[in-house]
Amino acid sequence: MTEVIIVGAAGRMGQCLTSLAKADPALDLVGAVDNGERLESLKALDCPVADKLAGIPALASGAAIIDFTAPEVSLGTARLAAENGNPLVIGTTGLGEGHFAELNELAAKTPIFWSSNMSIGVNVLAKILPLLARALGEDYDIELVELHHNRKKDSPSGTALTLGKCLAGARGWDLPDVAADGRSGLVGARPKAQIGFHAVRGGDVVGVHTVYFMGPGERIEVSHQAHSRENFAQGALRACVWLAGQKPGKLYSMADML
Ligand code: NAD
Repeated sequence: MTEVIIVGAAGRMGQCLTSLAKADPALDLVGAVDNGERLESLKALDCPVADKLAGIPALASGAAIIDFTAPEVSLGTARLAAENGNPLVIGTTGLGEGHFAELNELAAKTPIFWSSNMSIGVNVLAKILPLLARALGEDYDIELVELHHNRKKDSPSGTALTLGKCLAGARGWDLPDVAADGRSGLVGARPKAQIGFHAVRGGDVVGVHTVYFMGPGERIEVSHQAHSRENFAQGALRACVWLAGQKPGKLYSMADML
């Protein structure tokens, strides 16, 4: 049985993770962490709860950790995990280059897994999109539209950027050189070497990512729609069990697990 601590347990993803972990006979929920004002909602979980990861006893005995919070919080979790040797799965998005540089260093000390999107469907999509981009060729312009709920903090979504990176790689481009984040004003004709990102925010949309390949006289749309947060949570729990059997040495991703 894999012991697991959830950080951000009272959040939208955290609630889904704790309820699935409680129902899974392969997992033992041994800690739930969130900000002080949200701890009351965690009491029904019947496991140790705390407003700091350091306050969970199973941290010292090497329990696996899953963190869906915010970039600085996840980095703090990673530092503690590296000190104590806990496997750590991070689902937080909006991390910058500096965060990844530090995560890569910490991953030398303890196994760390990060994915901007834990859904199996999106990760399979990331494998087939480069095939489409290469087969269609540069006559087909690529644009990416993503929809999320009105409380999402980062934009474009981490998933949109991950998909954009695969697509840019398939064309031999570096994403930062070709990414156009929305368009406004007199931007001129669209250059060939460009991938446009468009973020729509509203309501309670869990997550929709659509890639458009637009060529002469036709267009292809490839779309992934998340119906609930459960698919992300299931992916993160599966990653947590898998990661507990891995060695430190690299920042693992869905591609490693699948
Ligand atoms: P949310 O705001 O509902 O939940 C975040 C939780 O973290 C909150 O309960 C908040 O109180 C808690 N938190 C904040 N600071 C904390 C701290 N110092 N210690 C402990 N807890 C703290 O957000 P959400 O919708 O659950 O998303 C969380 C993150 O996960 C976001 O970055 C989001 O983009 C990402 N996400 C990733 C995936 C994926 O598949 N990788 C899927 C969905 C969401």
